Amino acid sequence: MKSSRSSGMYSQKHRLSHQSKVEWLAMSLIPLLFMFALSAAADQPKYEIKQIKGNVYRFSTGSHHSAFMVTDEGIFVADPISDAAADYLTKELKKRYKQPIKYLAYSHNHPDHALGGYAFEEAGATTIAHEYAADDIIATKLPTAAPELTFKDDMHVDLGESYVQMHYHGPNNGRGNISFRFMPANVMFVVDWVVIGRMPYKNLPGYDIQGMIHSTEELLAMPEFDVLIGGHADTGKREDVERYLGYLKALYVAVRDGMLEGKSLEQLQREIRLPEYSDLKMYDEWLALNIEGVYRTLNNMSYMNMRPDRD
Ligand SMILES: [Zn+2]
Repeated sequence: MKSSRSSGMYSQKHRLSHQSKVEWLAMSLIPLLFMFALSAAADQPKYEIKQIKGNVYRFSTGSHHSAFMVTDEGIFVADPISDAAADYLTKELKKRYKQPIKYLAYSHNHPDHALGGYAFEEAGATTIAHEYAADDIIATKLPTAAPELTFKDDMHVDLGESYVQMHYHGPNNGRGNISFRFMPANVMFVVDWVVIGRMPYKNLPGYDIQGMIHSTEELLAMPEFDVLIGGHADTGKREDVERYLGYLKALYVAVRDGMLEGKSLEQLQREIRLPEYSDLKMYDEWLALNIEGVYRTLNNMSYMNMRPDRD
């Protein structure tokens, strides 16, 4: 009797402690699971296809964008982005349209835009790149489809009533980075050397600031375009590209002049403010990094640190 009571008491106590353990586990697991779900959602690219104008569309993974044009003669795609994105896009294009994917062109050599070429090669597309991008893709053994067609200055691809004009503007970001003009919609697609609505990337890895300015000036000197799709950030108009060029020039001039006055990078990062561009996304986060990028490029490419006329 005594023992059974005590065992009853024990089991009740045990039950209670078991219950509180379950509660405790649940209380601590719920936020963990929630955080896991959130991070999984953040890692999972949100693919989106959006009609930009006429037969020209933007495909987005969230952080990266590519462009494609649909015609009665087939589909032209600019940039595969990644294996997963290319797998999704090739399947989605097959599902949505009766036309075959005729061409895949690379905007440049960097892996965050050029991977995924195999899916398009398997779908029967002919691959295109500027000769410098093609050289780099092959020389570095980038695991993507090797470009079959290459060009030096310009390439024109006809697809019935529509066509694509590709142009090389000289060095700007990476190797063999080109512009695409989809006609007759008159939509441009440019990756990395024009960014709309956001600061250029961090400390400008792989960027040639003078080349970016030169290429953007050349782009604006070409016949007017209606819309520009960027490889990152926003889609915009000519005014947006002009404003972006204004930022690049202001940044370049501020860093160059400061360097000629003998200022250190830390001093430049403390002093340079370009408030007229503070509405650009990542302005607070990346301005100091952008300054560092221009500073580094001016030393590496123009040997500013060797100038005898520095103060
Ligand atoms: Zn990029």
